[in-house]
Amino acid sequence: MAAKLAAGNWKMNGTAASLREVAAIAQAAEDTGVPVLLCPPATLLSRMSDAARPSVMLGGQDCHAAARGAHTGDLSAEMLADAGATHVILGHSERRADHGETSAEVAAKCAAAQGVGLICVVCLGETLAQREAGQTRAVVSEQFTGSLPADCDPLALVIAYEPVWAIGTGKVATTGEIGQVHADLRAALIARFGDRGAGVLILYGGSVKAVNAAEIFAVADVDGALVGGASLKAADFVPIVQALAAS
Ligand code: PEP
Repeated sequence: MAAKLAAGNWKMNGTAASLREVAAIAQAAEDTGVPVLLCPPATLLSRMSDAARPSVMLGGQDCHAAARGAHTGDLSAEMLADAGATHVILGHSERRADHGETSAEVAAKCAAAQGVGLICVVCLGETLAQREAGQTRAVVSEQFTGSLPADCDPLALVIAYEPVWAIGTGKVATTGEIGQVHADLRAALIARFGDRGAGVLILYGGSVKAVNAAEIFAVADVDGALVGGASLKAADFVPIVQALAAS
């Protein structure tokens, strides 16, 4: 099987009761052989480890760029790793919008996370206004360049293309739109990292569901998905894992 990844972003959803979803997701990972990553709220990271490991990898949803210090409410990359994370989502559009995160800040977080051995899932994507203004490729290219640190390790990098207007809205980019951006990103990765850029996973994110997953996974250079709402319940997420296995 070519390298793939089915990643779930639980965002600010889930309490201890939600841990019951993990066993069935872990079973699907085992049955299909598809690498699966769950990024729960940080409060669940440690507690999810028992049900998740070894079949499901765990990730944080953000980290601070600093290793420690007076940053009330924030978490360092080392803390996430200490709680069982192997990955961290960085630069999600909700963080860029809600917290004003810039690409430069995302790059600093990426450097910090890779520095403690975490794999960074760096999110990029245009708003609806930017797409309608024909700026998609320029915006994504600029975010790609700005969100990766100078010494970025491509072996500890996953890119997630997530059109902002498709996240949580039920709207999905067309396969043509997805294919164009993923091809651009693959070219940018190879230009930046040479042969190693060819091996960096590029995920699509934005209202991926069981009904549209197979079509999306058939697009060239789509190596998997970053899934929000449909990753919260095993009944919704497992068919996406299975569709990726079949792609
Ligand atoms: C996301 O949170 O990254 C996401 C893609 O959400 P959803 O699948 O709900 O659109």
